[in-house]
Amino acid sequence: AAKAAGRGQYRFFSRDMSERAENRLTTEANLRQALSIGSFELYFQPKVRAADQSLVGAEALVRWKHDGQLVQPGAFMTVAEDSGLIMELGSWVLEQAVREATHWTKLLPDFHIAVNVSARQIIAPGFVERVRDCLARSGVPADRIEIEVTESVMVDSARSLEVLWRLKRLGVRIAVDDFGTGFSSLSYLRQMPIDTLKIDRAFVQDLPRDSAIAAMILTLGARLGLEVVAEGVEREEQLAWLVAEGCPVVQGFFIAEPMPARQLEARFLHPLLMAREDEREGRSA
Ligand code: C2E
Ligand code: MG
Ligand code: MG
Ligand code: MG
Repeated sequence: AAKAAGRGQYRFFSRDMSERAENRLTTEANLRQALSIGSFELYFQPKVRAADQSLVGAEALVRWKHDGQLVQPGAFMTVAEDSGLIMELGSWVLEQAVREATHWTKLLPDFHIAVNVSARQIIAPGFVERVRDCLARSGVPADRIEIEVTESVMVDSARSLEVLWRLKRLGVRIAVDDFGTGFSSLSYLRQMPIDTLKIDRAFVQDLPRDSAIAAMILTLGARLGLEVVAEGVEREEQLAWLVAEGCPVVQGFFIAEPMPARQLEARFLHPLLMAREDEREGRSA
């Protein structure tokens, strides 16, 4: 970025850079403390079948409780990754997500939990063992966990290929997050054990007017036998287009925003369980 700014901008840039470096260090110190005192919280965003909006799972999204506010990952994920703190944070996210999901997967036979994992976490030594141990401790079947990675993971091919295949052999599902926004070639789709493509919000945003890329990803997914999830569905017209085009699963503010675990239970799980109960009583009566 410094090079791109050009020579004439040096002074401004240098001040900006030291300011940013200072912010970065402050954020890093705050994050480190937050990890030690447990100031993170997991939110869960429902994933539903497009056709009938029935619940299929939830994506775990981390939040940082800082100065009485809930900070979104956009404000700290880069620092967490660059500083290596993502390793500890990522372990906490995985443990916590699986802990919550244990109960949910028991209640709902096809519910899965999606966990975001950064490139750095994936290629770090011990990642697969951590996932395996976490599953073994919780008793959650491996295929109820979906690991979301971005296309950047596919670029570092030799190591990633090995790790993703080892995860696949555990039975864990693998999703490509933000699909279509990376710089990788599509050839990895033939080598990597991928289950799901998540259409990036950018290609959902202007549906139904601007639909070429979303349509292409739906076709690609169908032809490759992959599940497709549309992210960032905010309006009814977007959902209508996705339903009409046969998109299997959708996620976005139009369906529900990310929420605390207890709220997911109250709004999405309890109504389902009650409906099931009613059905059972209705039949036996
Ligand atoms: P992502 O995995 O692509 O997650 C989707 C993001 O879009 C989430 O932002 C979610 O709150 C937001 N979103 C969902 N529906 C809508 C919608 O209808 N409209 C709009 N405008 N946004 C929507 P969030 O929670 O701020 O997370 C941002 C990114 O941070 C995530 O993108 C993911 O890459 C990363 N992230 C979040 N939690 C974790 C984590 O536990 N570990 C790692 N490694 N990365 C995480
Ligand atoms: Mg994601
Ligand atoms: Mg995404
Ligand atoms: Mg993302």
